Amino acid sequence: MGLDGSTNQALLDAQLELWHSTFAYIKSMALKSALDLRIADAIHHHGGGATLPQIAARVTPHPSKTPHLRRLMRVLAATGVLSVQPHPPTGSGDDDEPMYTLTPMSRLLVGSRNLVPVTALVLHPTMVTPFFDLGKWLQREELPDPGIFKKAHGEALWERTSRDAAFDALINDGMVSDSRFIMDIAIEECAGAFRGIGYLVDVGGGLGAAAQAISRAFPDVKCSVLDFDHVVAKAPSGTKVRYVGGDMFESIPPVDAMFFKWVLHDWGRGVCHDTEELQKSYSSKRKGGKVIIMDIVIGAGPSDPRYKEMQALFDIYMMVVNGKERSEQEWKKIFFEAGFSDYKITPVLGVRSIIEVYP
Ligand code: SAH
Repeated sequence: MGLDGSTNQALLDAQLELWHSTFAYIKSMALKSALDLRIADAIHHHGGGATLPQIAARVTPHPSKTPHLRRLMRVLAATGVLSVQPHPPTGSGDDDEPMYTLTPMSRLLVGSRNLVPVTALVLHPTMVTPFFDLGKWLQREELPDPGIFKKAHGEALWERTSRDAAFDALINDGMVSDSRFIMDIAIEECAGAFRGIGYLVDVGGGLGAAAQAISRAFPDVKCSVLDFDHVVAKAPSGTKVRYVGGDMFESIPPVDAMFFKWVLHDWGRGVCHDTEELQKSYSSKRKGGKVIIMDIVIGAGPSDPRYKEMQALFDIYMMVVNGKERSEQEWKKIFFEAGFSDYKITPVLGVRSIIEVYP
């Protein structure tokens, strides 16, 4: 019995919970190593199931590292990245070796529409290291507040992308992989949001993967992408999508609908003002259109606690880069203060939702 009357088992269970949260970053780092070593690709190459020697032959030239790799594989299997069958089918060549197979999660890491780039972005040291300063930042008053990312790196996120081409590519490629994954689902689950639009601009649309998906699904919708000059300069050629370089706070092309995917959550402070500016710039050119947003609505979506936890984690992730995830009440306040008359939330994208906002 512990001092507070807890049983030993309850104390050990509590310690396990504490360790689970404490060591959660090792799960992330094991996943990052799997990406760096392209372990999922190695298994995919073997038809979806491979033994340790087969994986090792593809991922490390040093046999001395194979026993260490086995320990990493054990973590990947224990955390659901892979599954493991202790007895592989006979004739596979390594009869005593367990067989590792992909799970639904790691199947998202292979193939032409994989989520490796966006996962690698989240786990990149530039994105991870500012988290060490989170507690200190919460205790410190500094006006104007540079934000956690800028405090750690000396420049804000979009200052960094404009100067550092490799980091810019990391962000742009990450966004392309997310858009390729989620846009087909969004178009299938929420087609009504896009149907009947004459001309749409994807504001902060990066390399344009979302606009391309909309243009493919709705050939009558004319699509443009607005992003910084240095981003659109790297956009693919030969698509129907038009690319416009510029600052969205200065001007937005005249359109019927503005689309913001993973853009408004980048702006946590002064966003009412920012959104109002966007609205003014928009409505001064064309009346009667709408805004379509793809972002988190905290509290919307599946009631499974893992979705709720993910929304809370995303919000802190965005806090580090001066962004913010919003509840319906917070979105509503922004929309009405910016002069919009109504909105509709369609929570069919798991953690995220589609929000249509009407002038
Ligand atoms: N909508 C894309 C990219 C989201 S990342 C997607 O979800 O796939 C945010 C994007 O906003 C980046 O491409 C960034 O370059 C762009 N951005 C940030 N500030 C901007 C500004 N002031 N004007 C135009 N684009 C901006």
